Amino acid sequence: MTPAPPPARAARATLGVLALQGDFAEHVAALEACGATAIEVRTRAQLEAVDGLIIPGGESTTIARLLLAFELMEPLRARIAGGLPVWGTCAGAIMLANEVTNLDRPPIAAMDITVERNAFGRQIDSFEADLDIAGIAGAPFHAVFIRAPVITRTGAGVQVLARLTDGRIVAARQGRLLATAFHPELTDDRRVHALFVAIVEEAVEHAAAPAEGRRA
Ligand code: GLN
Repeated sequence: MTPAPPPARAARATLGVLALQGDFAEHVAALEACGATAIEVRTRAQLEAVDGLIIPGGESTTIARLLLAFELMEPLRARIAGGLPVWGTCAGAIMLANEVTNLDRPPIAAMDITVERNAFGRQIDSFEADLDIAGIAGAPFHAVFIRAPVITRTGAGVQVLARLTDGRIVAARQGRLLATAFHPELTDDRRVHALFVAIVEEAVEHAAAPAEGRRA
């Protein structure tokens, strides 16, 4: 039984899914199932219009090449520096990492993590595992891994959210940035999407809040 997602709050936020390559359509559907407003992002104007962005699974070498070709790499880095919440799944997690083994182009390099691509080798192309994820209540999360990476190093500001039973890190968070080595968009459990929607809505509320209570 899949637990029901927490109810989404009033949809003031617009969620974007980077739609250059990979399984972006599944993410859009998952966000909509959470009650969020979601758009596909292929242009700079679309990137500027969103309050949070998912970078989907796919092929990280291709996504990195297309980010440069569509002239989205620098605008995306600038938005992340300005506090844009971003969640990368699988290839998207690879793109967020500061350091990646075996990537022939520079990643976005936004999270203080090191990621090893295709960490499970050819024998185990895909597998599924039940994970305890910090911040996700209820039953273990049934996670689908496809030619997945693992996170081999996390910096001081990075929280480990989930590990495989052998200890390898497969989900991490640094402030408003999330990285998962697996694909929550490929199952019907919406709890990780709901977590990301909550991070985005909190960021929108924080931006809209009066300066009162904030200290310089
Ligand atoms: N192996 C792919 C890569 O390195 C990622 C696979 C995925 O996103 N499912 O980019």
